[in-house]
Amino acid sequence: MLIEHPPLLYRLLFPGAIWRKEDNGRKCLFLTFDDGPIPEVTPWVLDVLDRYGVKATFFCVGENVYKHPDVYQMILDRGHGVGNHTYNHLQGLRFRTKDYTANVGKAAELIHSPLFRPPHGHMRRPQLVALRKQYKIIMWDVITRDYSPRVTSDDVFRTVCKYTRNGSVVVFHDSLKAEKNMREAMPRSIEWLLSEGYRFDTFTDFAR
Ligand SMILES: [Zn+2]
Repeated sequence: MLIEHPPLLYRLLFPGAIWRKEDNGRKCLFLTFDDGPIPEVTPWVLDVLDRYGVKATFFCVGENVYKHPDVYQMILDRGHGVGNHTYNHLQGLRFRTKDYTANVGKAAELIHSPLFRPPHGHMRRPQLVALRKQYKIIMWDVITRDYSPRVTSDDVFRTVCKYTRNGSVVVFHDSLKAEKNMREAMPRSIEWLLSEGYRFDTFTDFAR
């Protein structure tokens, strides 16, 4: 499916962005969570990650960080990476570049990170050009669609197994919308990925 595994043509719309990051043929991947932090879901995710001893990167919505600073701090304290996902989860195509980048800047006051991921996977070219001067734009190689009411947790798990490859950036969501599928599929997915020999990396080499 095209949505789960974005085609080359789509990737070419975002020059300079990271979709997949290979490491000399070593079996590694990047687990990412979007749209938190929220107290209902994020602490549970952190406990699961600790249980398996793996690290992830959380692309946080600034407004959620403002509302739940303690949950945001938990992510940092447990040694995970964070990235900027705008302050209000803006869909870039609907906003002027100036307003979009200002919203990213507002989130950056709370989220100190060199990483940015555009909500909904879209932004306009001038927005990309403006933001990539300051940020590494992290897209994805595998989107689990855990948020979709049209997929089951089995579908989510199968997507991970089918599409993950060396260097894949894999997306789950620590959001209420994705919660059911994510809670069921994410631990299974980690177990499977570990059994396949994947090492879980974060984007520390982009650190400022
Ligand atoms: Zn999002």
